[in-house]
Amino acid sequence: MRIAAGLIFASAVSLCASGSAWSQTAASKAAAAPAPAPAPAAAPAPAKAPCANPNALGIGRIVEIDTTAGPGFGFEHFKQLDFLRDHEVVLTFDDGPWPVNTPSVLKTLAEECTTGIFFPIGKHATYYPEILKQVAAAGHTIGSHTWSHANLNNKKLTEDQRKEEIEKGFSAVKWALGTSPAPFFRFPALQHPPEMVTYLGTRNVGIFSCDLDSFDFRASKPQVVIDNIMRKVEKLGKGIILMHDFQKHTAEALPELLHKLKAGGYKVVQMRAKAPVQTLAQYDAEILKDSKLPTVSSRPVSSVVQTISE
Ligand SMILES: [Zn+2]
Repeated sequence: MRIAAGLIFASAVSLCASGSAWSQTAASKAAAAPAPAPAPAAAPAPAKAPCANPNALGIGRIVEIDTTAGPGFGFEHFKQLDFLRDHEVVLTFDDGPWPVNTPSVLKTLAEECTTGIFFPIGKHATYYPEILKQVAAAGHTIGSHTWSHANLNNKKLTEDQRKEEIEKGFSAVKWALGTSPAPFFRFPALQHPPEMVTYLGTRNVGIFSCDLDSFDFRASKPQVVIDNIMRKVEKLGKGIILMHDFQKHTAEALPELLHKLKAGGYKVVQMRAKAPVQTLAQYDAEILKDSKLPTVSSRPVSSVVQTISE
């Protein structure tokens, strides 16, 4: 269904607003990250291994999403599509891929034979394409979370810059995976400018807000993440849960959190896209251009430095 501009924007900073800590934490680390490598080969097809854990949380239901005209999910901003049943949850992870934390989240999800939606930052995808490919290989759904985690409600950004953040983010994820991700998008800090909501509708991209926020980026320790989520999910009875695979405390909290969800009778719903996102050639080309910078010659010293006089 069509999501019209100006629709149900609960507040400028909703209960789910998150990621504000990113600029302080990731930006400094990102500066030290390696330059993008040459475009990686296509990700291998997800392999279906049988679940070896008889007490695993597992997957309760798989739904396929038709993103035509940009449907919105997550009651914090979009209240039309109430598709989750009582005690159903969707696990979502933002801001990766990132060393250590994202692989830890993948390990826990694999041990519990369950799944989530990952919303990577485009730049991070170019730093660590091999980690994002592990996410895809494990069969999880991958969308996008802009190119550089810009707040798209920032009035200093032009409309073209906002579109570039969205499009280049998808192109970067496609570059990292070697194949197009799902047309699933989450706005940084859940800031939903109406004109970009409309734009995503024209691009047939589904928009993911959330039903409950872990506020894991603010948590002082893993137990706080667990307590926040369990308190909220018990109150709501179901929902799309916003977490960050970028965050150490989230990775550490996940094993116990998933045990608690299982013990509470919650079931994980896997959301898959009916068709992949259609990236725009202009932005695919920009990623390729960026990925070649900077280049360092690998020519042997003897071919670079010639003694011409002694
Ligand atoms: Zn974020």
